[in-house]
Parts: sequence; C-alpha cells; structure tokens
Amino acid sequence: MSNCAIVGINWGDEGKGRMVDLLTEKYDVVVRFQGGGNAGHTVINELGKFALHLLPSGIFRKGVVNILGNGVALDPENLWSEMQEVESNGVSLTPENLKISDRASLLLPWHRDLDELEELRLADKKYGSTKQGIAPFYSDKYQKKTILAGELFYPEELKSHLSDLMEWKNLTLTKVYGAKPYTMEMLENWISDYCEKIKPYICDTGSFLRKAQKEDKSILFEAQLGSLRDLDYGIHPYTTSSNTTAAYAPIGSGLPSARLDSIVGVVKAYSTCVGEGPFVCEMFGEEAEKLRKAGFEYGAKTGRPRRVGPVDIVATRYGVEVQAATEIALTKLDVLSYMDKIPVCTHYTLNGERTDSFPFPSALKNAEPEIEYFEGWKCDISGIRSWDDLPKAARDYVSYIEKAVGCPIKYISVGPERDSIIIRK
Ligand code: GDP
Repeated sequence: MSNCAIVGINWGDEGKGRMVDLLTEKYDVVVRFQGGGNAGHTVINELGKFALHLLPSGIFRKGVVNILGNGVALDPENLWSEMQEVESNGVSLTPENLKISDRASLLLPWHRDLDELEELRLADKKYGSTKQGIAPFYSDKYQKKTILAGELFYPEELKSHLSDLMEWKNLTLTKVYGAKPYTMEMLENWISDYCEKIKPYICDTGSFLRKAQKEDKSILFEAQLGSLRDLDYGIHPYTTSSNTTAAYAPIGSGLPSARLDSIVGVVKAYSTCVGEGPFVCEMFGEEAEKLRKAGFEYGAKTGRPRRVGPVDIVATRYGVEVQAATEIALTKLDVLSYMDKIPVCTHYTLNGERTDSFPFPSALKNAEPEIEYFEGWKCDISGIRSWDDLPKAARDYVSYIEKAVGCPIKYISVGPERDSIIIRK
C-alpha cells in the first residue's frame, strides 16, 4: 500500500486536477479532504473537458472509489448539478464509485446568501470570495451549527435540528443584514430538490477507508487550492477557510491514522492568483496580458481573469516546506515557450533588506520582488515526452527552480491533456 497526497504549492489553480487524473491509474481510492465548490479542477481526457468543483478527479477511472470526506463543504445543490453534468458526458456514478461521508457537514442555503451579503457590506475591503458560501459554512461548522450529511437518514430529528438552526440564522439575516428570513417550506424544498438526490451516495466512509487500509489499498488524497490559501499558513485573511495542507488530509478524509508516503506538490511554471490580497511577484500591463492569454488564466468557477506573475521562488519554497512535498509536478511549462527571456522572482526585498523567507502576512504588502531573467527556448515543446528532448534552456529553467526550492521535480507537464507529461526517473 502507498498513500499519496496531491496538493497545491502556491495560490491554487496549479493544475492539481490533471495530476490526480493522471496518477489515479495507480490508486484504488481518491479522497477530497477539504474545501467545497469554490474552486475548479480542470481535467481533459478521452471523455472530454471537465471543470470539477466537488467531485474527486478520480471519477473518470474505472474501478477507482471516489470519496468526499468529512472535511469538505458539502453543497448538495452544486454537487447534484455537477453529478448530472458529468453523467451526461458518459461517466457513470454509482454508490460503488462515489461515496459521500455521513460526517461531512452540509453547506446550507443561507451560507451562499451570507457570503454575498458580507462581501457587499465590505465593499472595497472585500476578500474576493467566490460567493459559494465557504467562509460562512466553515465558521458555522466550527460553531457546530451545521447539519451532518448522515442526518438525512433521520428525517424527524433533521427537521427539528434545521428549524433550530433556521431560527438562529434568521436573526443574523434579518437583523444584521436586513435580508429576507428563511422558512421551513424553503428548506424542505431544498431537501427534496437536492439532498434526497445525493442521499444514496452517503455512507460511513470512515469505516470504508479503515477497511481499505487493512486490505492494503492505495489511497490518493486530493486537495483544493494551495499552501498560500491555507487557513493557518496562508496569506491571512485572503485565504480560504479550510486547511489546504497535506497534513490535514488524514483528518479531513476520514482516516486519521493515514500515513502519507509521498506528497506531490503542484507548482505552475509561472504564478497566478485569483481575487484580492498581496501578490508580490505580480506583473501588470501588456506583459501580464500576454501571459494571461498564453496560459488562458481565467477562473474555472468565476471566469475572473487571474492575476499573473513569474514563478515566485520565495513563495514556492515556503509552499513546499509547509506541504512537506516529497516531489514536485511543474505544470504548464509549454505556456512560457513564447517568451524571449523568462522572468523569475528569486528573492524579496523587505524594508531595504534582501530576504529568502516568506514574510508574515501583514508585511507582504511592503515586499518587493527581485527579478532575474533566464534564456527562453522559443519553440513548441508540447509534443516532448522525455527530459533529454527538452531544449537546454527549458532544462536549465526547471533545474534552477528545483535547486532553489529544494525539492525534486518529477513531473513536467507541457499541455493540458492527460498524456502531455514528462516523467523523470
Ligand atoms: P487546479 O484547480 O489546480 O486543478 O487547476 P485549474 O484546473 O484551475 O487550472 C489548471 C489549468 O491549466 C486547466 O485549464 C488545465 O487544463 C490547464 N493545464 C494543466 N496543465 C497544463 C499544461 O501543462 N499546459 C497547458 N497549456 N495547460 C495546462
């Protein structure tokens, strides 16, 4: 048995979905352990192009069991529409290949409202939320003011629990935000329209995983977003509201005793960041627009243009350390092929001093990037499948990143398709 976590090293959107889709070949089980429908993993394979938000990226492989663990923000509405979309493209979903933890908390209809209302209240101080209700969901979860998926099997208790929560939440909605209150009828409709649809997939995934562990099955843990969005270790408060780090995988998956044999940290060959917050290496103007277009950097969930910049060695090294990555997958190297010279943010300058350490969040806005340029390769590398066939300039660029962040780069992707990958021995 070997367990692996696939995690983001930077601000998210590094290409984790494509790496899970590729590596699931070797695994029996794939578990999503945190986050919700607020990000998108893009997967392109023989069945088509998919933007997955909640479903684990192993859903396309026959024989792989996909689990939504207790750590996810389980949004029945989003999940149901995603399930229908995937099924309409020929992927069969059954309680055998998709299992939802009975201990996952439900993202309730008012969580989305509260996300939107709070961003409106914050106006120009907003966090840049995707308005999927994730922050209100996790704060309620830690207040124990959510419903567990397994409660759907206890309809009488569920109704009274929901009614208590509604009474409490209506106070905030009406008195704090002046919004409309919820009624039990609205909630009952929500249960029948969405929760009942996903109910057949809900089960005790903890006991399933413990059995899989005893049977020596291989488990892949799939994260959302990246190190710098981690609630505890990221660029607070511009983080997400859950832990995106590999260390959380055992807790959020339902297998707290899991040991991780390898941690694949996914790094993009340049930097992108969606939404607000400090982004030290950010590029602007025409240079940024060219890179954004070349990499098609627009949010999978929101369509928002992503902020872009050169690869950031300071942030990436920190991300690798926080994740305890054992190997790196460097994605989208092909996107840089148009550049004459490739910029790299090698250090930061903070208060007049050069630094290699990732600063405390409050200091980030004062950090300045130090940029060095590498030779470009100026040719199409998307058809290359071996390290030795890469142009020397591309190998030099990859080798520099590898040395600077202190972690071997095992995978290099040169296109979005499953097989557009160079695997180094
Ligand atoms: P994730 O959330 O980390 O899975 O990343 P996203 O799906 O948001 O963003 C990755 C995007 O890059 C997707 O549109 C992928 O299809 C695309 N992609 C992934 N790897 C490559 C690559 O090597 N080259 C190119 N050109 N695109 C890639």
